[in-house]
Amino acid sequence: ELTSLSGCLLRGGPLSGPYRLRQFHLHWGSADDHGSEHTVDGVQYAAELHLVHWNPKYNTFGEALKQPDGTAVVGIFLKEGIGREKGEFQLILDALDKVKTKGKEVPFTNFDPSCLFPACRDYWTYHGSFTTPPCEECIVWLLLKEPITVSSDQMAKLRSLLSSAENEPPVPLVGNWRPPQPIKGRVVRASF
Ligand SMILES: [Zn+2]
Repeated sequence: ELTSLSGCLLRGGPLSGPYRLRQFHLHWGSADDHGSEHTVDGVQYAAELHLVHWNPKYNTFGEALKQPDGTAVVGIFLKEGIGREKGEFQLILDALDKVKTKGKEVPFTNFDPSCLFPACRDYWTYHGSFTTPPCEECIVWLLLKEPITVSSDQMAKLRSLLSSAENEPPVPLVGNWRPPQPIKGRVVRASF
């Protein structure tokens, strides 16, 4: 069983020990039929949340990036829908509302990311890389099968963020996802 404990520790499943949360981020698209970086039977979700954890036995995050078991990333799919929305997701959107343009910062504390996990903890796992350059091959990927639901208003909020600075012509931040890569003999295992 994969568990995310408050205090931002991840343990269980294929992990040999506890991994510590470093950061989390989202990938999304311009419409709800694309945006996730993983696909399930060829189907993309509207967005994908990545919770990046590292193995504290390597002392620093930078050192962990050089190790095949240095990091563990939990991927959670977001699908647009009504009913059963993840209320906690709104906390992130409220903070993002204050940093709509490039270069802005806002404090974001007392947030327990385990509240974003779906009820079901079934996952697929494989060994792979980061999806942004230099794409280090140091990740135990843990992709949760059950998506969380967000409203179309919430997705619209994400898509209204800008990659431009405040004094620049507005450029929407959409399509910050990398397409799936060749599997290259990797083995994907299911926990269920
Ligand atoms: Zn990512």
